[in-house]
Amino acid sequence: MASDLFASDAKLTPYWWDRTPRPALPDVAPPKAVDVLVVGSGYTGLSAALQTARGGRSTLVLDAEDAGWGCSTRNGGQISTSIKPGYEELARRHGPETAARIVKDGQNSLAWIGDFVASEQIDCDFKVVGRFHAAHGPRHYDALALRVANQPKDLGIEAHMVSRAEQRGELGSDAYHGGVVYPRHASVDPARLHQGMLDRVLTSGGGVVAHCRVTALRRNGGGFEVETARGIVSARNVVVATNGYTGEVTPWLRRRVIPIGSYIIATEPLPRETMARLMPKARVISDTRKVVYYYRPSPDGSRILFGGRVSADETDPRVSGPRLQAEMVRLFPELAGTRISHSWCGFVAYTFDELMHVGEQDGLHYATGYCGSGVGMACYLGMRLGQQVLGLREGQTGLNATSFPTRPFYSGNPWFLAPSVAYYRWRDRIAA
Ligand SMILES: Cc1cc2nc3c(=O)[nH]c(=O)nc-3n(C[C@H](O)[C@H](O)[C@H](O)COP(=O)(O)OP(=O)(O)OC[C@H]3O[C@@H](n4cnc5c(N)ncnc54)[C@H](O)[C@@H]3O)c2cc1C
Repeated sequence: MASDLFASDAKLTPYWWDRTPRPALPDVAPPKAVDVLVVGSGYTGLSAALQTARGGRSTLVLDAEDAGWGCSTRNGGQISTSIKPGYEELARRHGPETAARIVKDGQNSLAWIGDFVASEQIDCDFKVVGRFHAAHGPRHYDALALRVANQPKDLGIEAHMVSRAEQRGELGSDAYHGGVVYPRHASVDPARLHQGMLDRVLTSGGGVVAHCRVTALRRNGGGFEVETARGIVSARNVVVATNGYTGEVTPWLRRRVIPIGSYIIATEPLPRETMARLMPKARVISDTRKVVYYYRPSPDGSRILFGGRVSADETDPRVSGPRLQAEMVRLFPELAGTRISHSWCGFVAYTFDELMHVGEQDGLHYATGYCGSGVGMACYLGMRLGQQVLGLREGQTGLNATSFPTRPFYSGNPWFLAPSVAYYRWRDRIAA
């Protein structure tokens, strides 16, 4: 590799894939007809499929690549409530009742994922470690404090402020201006979580076929005719779970999601004392930058996984790796010279209102737009979506009550992304 910051055996695949390689599924053609066909085998698709398969519907999941090839096995494994806008902002847009329901959806997703992992006994290093969300400027600390103070009390959101003077108890860096701790946020090995879900779909009777891209969707009577790389399948219901990889097959959704690359590295193992000094509570960490950095210790506590976006345009993990390492060293100067063992990326889906969306359009069921924060929420909304396909009332969420915005002339090619990212990175730098 070009930079000597890469270890000699560095990989351009996710760190998680070393322990959990992409699954070898039987190489079979899809059946001719099913009740429910799910496009995309990430958390959203598998979680929906688990509901419909267990609900007695013949269920087939198709993926254009390996099972779980998308974000669901590439992410940082940080679990939050995923709802970015605060309650006040949501109340301005949607009224207090829907706002409270959306905030509650976030809380429910966080509680649900812990219960799900425990009840299904999924071996995935799930731990409620808490999050330190750090303020990159003094104004941002004040804004965090205001947001914490203005949360509706009856929603029971746990959070406490940590001043700059107390910060070293959370993080071995003086680069921030204090922050907030969310004690219920969690960490997980994302590929182990995905594998656990995949195993449960298969044992519940669901079928999963990899390397079988869906190339066209046509209405056919009460259902759909689904054209795939390996033949036509007819389905009563179709679930679209393609998130940051949404393509031309679903133009309505493509006009509503903005695919953005997120980049991440793993360091080589670090001395135990260094890890204890830098991340004394082993929390997941993020910051208030608009172009956020997120990082955490690996589940075995031996190395740092550091993610973010380090260029305006999409780039190559060979380029993003050393840049992420440089940002990490800016926060933790003692890590200068630390080498990269893995550098990789994936495409997340942003939306124009910074909210995820779930519902039905032209007969297609969908859940998407987690805005870079979908580990818990994609699992949860996929589950709710599966319930919606089954016609169950409990499938409805507060997020179903919001409309899914687009912008004039936007058809899925985010030409505005590079200048926007450049602008926000500049603002973040000034604030810091
Ligand atoms: C580097 C990185 C770090 C992240 N870190 C975090 C984090 O720490 N915490 C957090 O909460 N979130 C994080 N995320 C986001 C999170 O991973 C996603 O929100 C979540 O995994 C989305 O799951 P999904 O099932 O909706 O989509 P995906 O897992 O992306 O799955 C979509 C699938 O659809 C398939 N597909 C697309 N088109 C077709 C087609 N036509 N036919 C068949 N299949 C198709 C793709 O091949 C893909 O496998 C991160 C993402 C990245 C990339």
